[in-house]
Amino acid sequence: MDQPIIRVRDAQKSFGTLRVIDGLSFDVRKGEKLALIGPSGSGKTTILRMLMTLEALSGGRIEVCGEPLFHMQKNGAEVAADEAHLHKMRRHIGMVFQHFNLFPHKSVLDNITLAPILTTGEKRPAAEARARELLEMVGLADKADAMPSQLSGGQKQRVAIARALALRPEIMLFDEVTSALDPELVEEVLEVMKRLASETDMTMLLVTHEMGFAREFADRVLFFDRGRICEEGPPDEIFSNPVQDRTRTFLRKII
Ligand code: ADP
Repeated sequence: MDQPIIRVRDAQKSFGTLRVIDGLSFDVRKGEKLALIGPSGSGKTTILRMLMTLEALSGGRIEVCGEPLFHMQKNGAEVAADEAHLHKMRRHIGMVFQHFNLFPHKSVLDNITLAPILTTGEKRPAAEARARELLEMVGLADKADAMPSQLSGGQKQRVAIARALALRPEIMLFDEVTSALDPELVEEVLEVMKRLASETDMTMLLVTHEMGFAREFADRVLFFDRGRICEEGPPDEIFSNPVQDRTRTFLRKII
């Protein structure tokens, strides 16, 4: 079997005395679509933020594409990663947040091309051609010259997805990307994610409260509770026949 693209082993994360991730272990296969569900405060966002290196690990180990995320080898010994290592590892991963965080004074096209031009040295014409392809993919080909303030929330979120894809990540993380949207705008964003899931072999991890979408989208569902995985399995099993009481109680409340 192929080596997992993400390997999390006994991960720990505390904020002060608050233990948020408590001995978490899981693997993700290349191309897998994973939904992370569970009560608010159970650590779902924190694990995505650690994968993106936005939060440090308090203990345990995370490997991405076969390399430790927060450590590196120096003279045969393992030491804490320096900025150059983190920068390299970050290139594997793109993340889309609940709040789109577009640059307000840049056009849609510039929002998408800025990172490739600045961080990977891509030439402007190539970066723009790629940005236009991505805008086509998210259904916003006609908005290249618009400013973010001229877009709806759903359109902004689709630009944010295109922007994350512009760096050609192998792994995409989606953190409650529809929860700040008006209900009528949710579907257009979910459609883009479905298209991405079906048309590419990208590895995707998604934190969501949209259980219907999780069921349709995911190959596997992880149910988080108090910083651990309480139950995991294919969506049909988790949603139709959960084994753990906590999963049942959570699903009863949310569906
Ligand atoms: P979820 O995504 O499952 O709702 P989170 O990972 O966002 O859970 O949060 C888990 C817990 O960690 C929550 O109690 C939250 O308040 C706490 N937490 C998250 N980030 C920070 C931080 N930067 N400082 C202190 N506490 C935090």
